[in-house]
Amino acid sequence: MGKVIGIDLGTTNSAVAVMEGEQAVIITNSEGARTTPSVVAFSKNGERFVGEKAKRQASVNTDRTISSIKRRMGSDYRVHIDDKEYSPQEISAMILKKLKKDAENYLGESVNEAVITVPAYYTDAQRQATKDAGRIAGLDVKRIINEPTAAALAYGLDNGESQKILVYDLGGGTFDVSIIELGDDLIEVLSTAGDNHLGGDDFDERLAQFMVEQFQKYQKVKICKDVTAMARIREEAEKAKKELSFAENYNVNLPFITTRKGEPVHMQMNITRKMLEELIRDLVDRTETPVRTALNDAHLTPMDIDRVLLVGGSTRIPMVVTKVKNMLGREPSKSINPDECVAIGAAIQGGKMTTGSYALSADSKVSQIVLMDVTPLSLSVETIGGIANRIIERNETIPVRQSKIFSTAMNFQTTVEVKVYQGERRFTRDNKLLASFKLEGIKRALAGTPQIEVTFDIDVNGILKVSAKDLGTGRQQQVTITSTTNLSEEEIERACADAARYESEENRRLELVEIRNEAESLVYSVEERLDKAKSSMDRAEYKQIRADKDELKKMVVKTSPERITEMEAGRIKEAMEVLRASSARL
Ligand code: AMP
Repeated sequence: MGKVIGIDLGTTNSAVAVMEGEQAVIITNSEGARTTPSVVAFSKNGERFVGEKAKRQASVNTDRTISSIKRRMGSDYRVHIDDKEYSPQEISAMILKKLKKDAENYLGESVNEAVITVPAYYTDAQRQATKDAGRIAGLDVKRIINEPTAAALAYGLDNGESQKILVYDLGGGTFDVSIIELGDDLIEVLSTAGDNHLGGDDFDERLAQFMVEQFQKYQKVKICKDVTAMARIREEAEKAKKELSFAENYNVNLPFITTRKGEPVHMQMNITRKMLEELIRDLVDRTETPVRTALNDAHLTPMDIDRVLLVGGSTRIPMVVTKVKNMLGREPSKSINPDECVAIGAAIQGGKMTTGSYALSADSKVSQIVLMDVTPLSLSVETIGGIANRIIERNETIPVRQSKIFSTAMNFQTTVEVKVYQGERRFTRDNKLLASFKLEGIKRALAGTPQIEVTFDIDVNGILKVSAKDLGTGRQQQVTITSTTNLSEEEIERACADAARYESEENRRLELVEIRNEAESLVYSVEERLDKAKSSMDRAEYKQIRADKDELKKMVVKTSPERITEMEAGRIKEAMEVLRASSARL
């Protein structure tokens, strides 16, 4: 067995690290850099470039250069080059392949196993896609871990004392916040929240748009449709943004950006840090909601946080640092390198998983650390009336396996449909359907008799398996959720906000649906008992019970479980009481 490398597969840049003895080290790539741009390019003569070389030629080969593919992971998006189609997994695999090769050159041996990091808020499909990308690149992905958790792992190794840490991770394309408890040997994620579509790329876009507007205003030339010019402007915008993290001014200088009446026109302007701050202020402010959510979910206030770690290139922006300081009332820690700590954490996890001659000794600090991550959203199955019956609550520590027993709603039902939903609302129609499958061949029996065990199993990588088993016959059906219809971050945020807003209204609706369900099972059980007792019963009593039962049954059949009103529920409740009283001696 060789070494298990740790890979931070970033939106903008990627990094790879490995354990050397007790130390995790960043591997320099073949160009001598410690990070590799996550860019792939196809030249016109069929060559393929990955990393710095691909990034450098981007402005002159725009439509054959692919960047930020991480934003598309787990979707149906395809890259079209000549007559070929590439999935996001295939493009990511090209980046992974380069990182693998750089690691092999550095170590002087082949590398086949890796730990890869993903944003904490990645959905199942996105995690699966990342694993697949690894496989395409020839890597056995031993574990997928969340980026902020990896950062905490990198930090935790050198800092013995027990503490609560908030990891604020603002990269090129995503924002993640996690609250992590570092114990002596335990790293436990208490909560996580984020925004899958917020990062440095958005800042670049704002600045690029501003530059275009200014240029059009003063030079009276439209360039927004000129693909090559726009690519150069975007590149310059990112450069300006980065410089403005250290300097107050930046002079944009793009000679020969376009022509006017056959004459060359240059783009030259001065951008100040203040200007950039005004352009991105609302985007930076958007990080506040996930921070609050993560604190609330962990039942903590800013005062309870011992340390704030900044991760991701965009946390170099002074305005971001100030924002974090104002939100949390303390200076963020500067002891870890925001570009490297995620790969370092992944390598540490890799080190823990290395077997054979490179395995760490059992008493080493790395071997002793236990990592506990969480699941970001609740998972449920649908029960009668469209109720989302939760099997796993959000922020549950993974791996986790939980089961619940369900039954049939109708007499002699031989098939049940298991519909799996993700989200915080009480009714499934407001959540996201992840998968649906049927369990057939259930033994014919009265409603409520068969015992169907539904099990949700989330593995250490956050990937969900759902199974349904008829405990009577032992028949089982199982699915691994690989849905490609992902929840966007906006949808997740909306789901959480709506859940809070509609909570009391939904709880009431839930009660109404449950009244109807209770009445339905009472009807079935009275029918069954009445049938058995019929021959030995007093005729008048039998008739009374049957009439009460029929009355209730009529009401139940007439009301829709989805639309039951307060008035209908009230009547059903009264009829239930009558039937319970008359059938008490059955
Ligand atoms: P990551 O995904 O963590 O690699 O972060 C990449 C993002 O960080 C990109 O949007 C970069 O433009 C941005 N970035 C890197 N260095 C700086 C800097 N000095 N100031 C502002 N943004 C930066």
